[in-house]
Amino acid sequence: MMNFFNKKSQISIKDILSILKNESTPLWIYHTETIINQIKKLKKFDIIRFAQKSCSNIHILRIMKKMNVKIDAVSLGEIERAIKAGYTSKNDDIVFTADMFTKETLKKIVKLNITVNAGSVDMLEQLGKISPGHKVWIRINPKFGHGHHFKTNTGGENSKHGIWDPKLTIPIIKKYELNCIGLHMHIGSGVNYEHLKNVCNAMKKQCIKFNQKIKAISAGGGLSIPYKKTDIPVNVNHYFHLWNNVREEISKHFNNPIKLEIEPGRFLVGESGILISQICTIKKVGKKIFTLIDSGFNDLMRPVLYGSYHHISVIPKDNRNINTNKIIKTIIGGPLCESGDIFTQNENNQLIEIELPEIKIGDYIVFHNTGAYGASMSSNYNSRPLISEVLITEKIPKIIRRKQTIQELIRLETEI
Ligand SMILES: *Cc1c(COP(=O)(O)O)cnc(C)c1O
Repeated sequence: MMNFFNKKSQISIKDILSILKNESTPLWIYHTETIINQIKKLKKFDIIRFAQKSCSNIHILRIMKKMNVKIDAVSLGEIERAIKAGYTSKNDDIVFTADMFTKETLKKIVKLNITVNAGSVDMLEQLGKISPGHKVWIRINPKFGHGHHFKTNTGGENSKHGIWDPKLTIPIIKKYELNCIGLHMHIGSGVNYEHLKNVCNAMKKQCIKFNQKIKAISAGGGLSIPYKKTDIPVNVNHYFHLWNNVREEISKHFNNPIKLEIEPGRFLVGESGILISQICTIKKVGKKIFTLIDSGFNDLMRPVLYGSYHHISVIPKDNRNINTNKIIKTIIGGPLCESGDIFTQNENNQLIEIELPEIKIGDYIVFHNTGAYGASMSSNYNSRPLISEVLITEKIPKIIRRKQTIQELIRLETEI
């Protein structure tokens, strides 16, 4: 239960305590070798493209680049980050995925000649008009979806993502001689193999119906990671085989080689990261005990947004031996002036009491598996600056993002 340190994460309590000698909480820590191991698990795919929205620190992107992983960018900011990390528009190294263009983004994409994965027919028209011959992918709405939460479901009539009727794109592709590389489907985060079969079949059907010469298909992202001890890790080989079969069938149908691309975010970085916070107060509220810590949902948003589970461990500050016989039940909350600022809640926003050993003010609380959709989802709510990020590579910690200062926040309003 407590002090469960994910063996794979390889960030030890000793590492953490040594970082905390110089750094204050809250802070994010990542582990390079864990990311590299995850990348290697996907080497059967022709192209691995990192969905950088899951963890967009430039130093993490540089690990991806070194490992020949390509990049998916979903905003102008993410394009700029990819370029800063050393990516160029060559070989479709950066693909921009979206369902619309903002004016600024479209301008930059045309200027840099960045491949576009279009989720709406309008995008093709807007792009083609000013950049004939541009390279595009077509993102399809497979008409059904799947996600670990309805907010991460990306298919069906209730999803804003993807093109409902890909046939509508063909006249526009022809009109502007757009270079259509392939069809893309991202059906949501979380894997269910039965469902995956349907997705693979849908991809095949769509390719045949589309009936254009394509060079690749993309399976999108969505590979899950074990958050709970009882979660079963995704069977990457099974996942690959299902997709590889469809790829071969499509390839045979068109008598043309087809590349198979995968676009994970969570799978590559989720298990590499932790969030460290410190206990500031332990208070009784009626029969309940609330443990309040120095990070809030402005830092780690997933529990509030989706009711997501992150395993929690305690590191005693004073090196005392933790008494595992003395268990308390407690709710873990943050500092925000917002009653929903609770890390231990379910998807219906009901508060959950977790079991912890006897804790004291000053002890550290560790949230495990926060490498994906952790730092990248943080906000400045309650005027709280973004916190620092540390990357451990071959046992050596390095700050890869310093803390934002309150002055930096205020300056946006005073220097105008
Ligand atoms: C978010 C997203 C991904 C990555 O999803 P994960 O669940 O993190 O693997 C991949 N592709 C697209 C288009 C996305 O929006």
